[in-house]
Amino acid sequence: MTPGTHHIAIAGAGLLGRLVAWQLLRDGHAVTLYDAGPLDAPPAAAWTAAGMVAPLCETSISERCVHDMGRFALTQWPTWLEALEAPSLWQQNGSLMVAHPQDLGELTQFRRDLDHALGGDSPCQTLSGSDIQRLEPDLAGGFHQGLYLPDEAHLDNRTLLSRLLEAIRALGGECHGHCPVETFPGEVATAEGRRHFDLVVDCRGTGARPHHPSLRGVRGETLHVQTAEIRLSRPVRLMHPRYQLYVVPKPEHRFVIGATQIESEDRSPVSLQSSLELGSALYTLSPAFAEARILEQGVNLRPAFLDNLPHVTHQQGLISANGLFRHGYLLAPAVVCHLLAEIRGHGDQPFADILAARPPQETTA
Ligand SMILES: Cc1cc2nc3c(=O)[nH]c(=O)nc-3n(C[C@H](O)[C@H](O)[C@H](O)COP(=O)(O)OP(=O)(O)OC[C@H]3O[C@@H](n4cnc5c(N)ncnc54)[C@H](O)[C@@H]3O)c2cc1C
Repeated sequence: MTPGTHHIAIAGAGLLGRLVAWQLLRDGHAVTLYDAGPLDAPPAAAWTAAGMVAPLCETSISERCVHDMGRFALTQWPTWLEALEAPSLWQQNGSLMVAHPQDLGELTQFRRDLDHALGGDSPCQTLSGSDIQRLEPDLAGGFHQGLYLPDEAHLDNRTLLSRLLEAIRALGGECHGHCPVETFPGEVATAEGRRHFDLVVDCRGTGARPHHPSLRGVRGETLHVQTAEIRLSRPVRLMHPRYQLYVVPKPEHRFVIGATQIESEDRSPVSLQSSLELGSALYTLSPAFAEARILEQGVNLRPAFLDNLPHVTHQQGLISANGLFRHGYLLAPAVVCHLLAEIRGHGDQPFADILAARPPQETTA
């Protein structure tokens, strides 16, 4: 496609939809963006997410390509945030992993898995108790060993989503909230009828199941708490035999806490068991969390294919990007840059060997 000459519809104003809409407007295209929910607090997994960009933390439980695309994200996000005039939404202070003395085996195993995945070339550093206290003085004193994963980052993801929407509107994008759509090559169907476009980009996450029967939702739960009693400079993960709790600092003394990954499409509220586990694990990280106020309990579904990898599929008039699973912020830069190269007609699309393949379960003979 040549720049600035086409009218493109984007279905889904979550993470991918907003990034793609913003970039296409910057290329000079006319863009119409649809979401089934409200645009200011969307039902997107991106709104519920913790916003970590942690290629090393995720490597031990993911394919190597997740690490490679994640490293690309560490360079791409700062560039995009500069363009959005919002560089402070990006914090790159590494990640800290700790374990209680009885669970130190979890740290050792994590390190082994990471070294194995990266061929012994891991930048992960072992920390003593005093190193941990130096990095995060407000953590409880009982952690004698930890791991530091340099370069990892986290984003103020909700402000990012709002900034993207502002930028889309400022560039003349037409935005429709509360407007569920169905997508077709060159057409979008709303309750009002069908509308023609030069191209439709489907970024509906779990809402795209009509196109991808094998797409599934993987439930995740979060707590949002607020306290001025403790400061953290980076995401902290608490390793435990049954879960990995993560605590991610956000502006205004807020913290997002999560751990759960449940193979279920149940969107009902957080269970008592999860709430107790998250709360008590948080308290063991620092008793200063005891007086924190619980502001919100979040539940959402991560869109995933059977291989838990993202895929971009293209037919005449319709491109679909989906399956970012638990790695939306980690993988969106690679997926969006690939998708834009596809739309711009560049021969050399980044990560084509991973992203352009059809999901294995949907390959036709
Ligand atoms: C608890 C939790 C924590 C997470 N933490 C992290 C993290 O720390 N780091 C990380 O990298 N990733 C994280 N993720 C994963 C990340 O949120 C997802 O991978 C990412 O949001 C997927 O982006 P998406 O744009 O494909 O889908 P979404 O962000 O879900 O957006 C899809 C949008 O499409 C809309 N839609 C659906 N159906 C329709 C329809 N018919 N018509 C119009 N619109 C429709 C939805 O309303 C939604 O707004 C987390 C996810 C969860 C649930």
